[in-house]
Amino acid sequence: MSGNPAVVMRLVASAYSVAEKAGAIVRKVLHSGDLGIVEKTGANDLQTLADRLAQKSICASLYRSFPNITIIGEEDLPSEEVQEDLIESGQAEEILQKSCPEDYKALKEEELVVWVDPLDGTKEYTEASRCLHLQDVVQKPLKGLNKTHGTAMWLLDNVTVLIGIAYEGRAIAGVINQPFYNYQLGSGAALGRTMWGMLGLGAFGFELREVPADKRIVTTTRSHSNKTVTDCVNAMEPHEVIRVGGAGNKIIQLIEGKASAYVFASPGCKKWDTCAPEAILHAVGGRLTDMFGNTYCYNADVKHMNSAGVLATLRNHDYYVSRVPPSVQQALKSE
Ligand code: AMP
Ligand code: MG
Ligand code: MG
Repeated sequence: MSGNPAVVMRLVASAYSVAEKAGAIVRKVLHSGDLGIVEKTGANDLQTLADRLAQKSICASLYRSFPNITIIGEEDLPSEEVQEDLIESGQAEEILQKSCPEDYKALKEEELVVWVDPLDGTKEYTEASRCLHLQDVVQKPLKGLNKTHGTAMWLLDNVTVLIGIAYEGRAIAGVINQPFYNYQLGSGAALGRTMWGMLGLGAFGFELREVPADKRIVTTTRSHSNKTVTDCVNAMEPHEVIRVGGAGNKIIQLIEGKASAYVFASPGCKKWDTCAPEAILHAVGGRLTDMFGNTYCYNADVKHMNSAGVLATLRNHDYYVSRVPPSVQQALKSE
């Protein structure tokens, strides 16, 4: 790549570095042992110090380099001075080196909307912290974590940092950091990984795999279920159902060949949950829609809630849309 990288490439490169910084914050707060949990709408809708600090870090860092973009973050935070040590000014070189797809070369900061979920899977993060407290591993270096802390670490795999970029209402690029990835390798292994993707360029930071075509493995929520959600999952006639936390985590399962469809027939997921994952999934040929097969819009003025549910697949999207029962469609329409 010669000359000055396009604005959107610089933004994705910054988002990559900023997501890594946010991932480090998420690890650090877990290890402090003090999560500072606040209930938002209820016990299944939590915010921790990690959600707050990571969002501050992401928003302040991106605004410093791109003052004219619009950022919409999940957490409602007071506007206050952000400590300098939360600012990340790096830009991932591997992204700056890529050629920007022709359609996006001339995009201006003012045209870009960034959707931020500073910590997706907060419920699982708090449950993991509780497990680690019981096992007395908090306040020790993260390196102390290994597979003997099975349940806690399984839960921490559900946690991601999501930064999605939208243009003209479409999710065009996204970054997902998974802060606790690699815990299986035990002491000494560097924790965390970052995946990213862009329409017209592809997706990077993982190995694309598919579930065999004749097998339907459905992934869905583990902590926000109800009768409509389970009715819809069953209607897909799955060979296997996986219940895990986090929208980002479930999209990772799709692109790594662990699940064939993410089925969540309920409101609850918001635009910051789906923007980055959708961009990465679409970049490798998958689809993310509501339960009717319609795409969501990511303009700055849309409502935040994905009221008509989330249906995401790498392949065979139409099959899953066709299996959504009329009763489920009715329940979502009346929302
Ligand atoms: P889950 O699959 O339950 O982890 O949900 C994926 C994302 O959607 C997470 O960010 C959840 O916080 C959010 N979400 C889903 N359902 C709800 C709900 N009923 N209330 C609050 N957040 C929800
Ligand atoms: Mg979330
Ligand atoms: Mg969140």
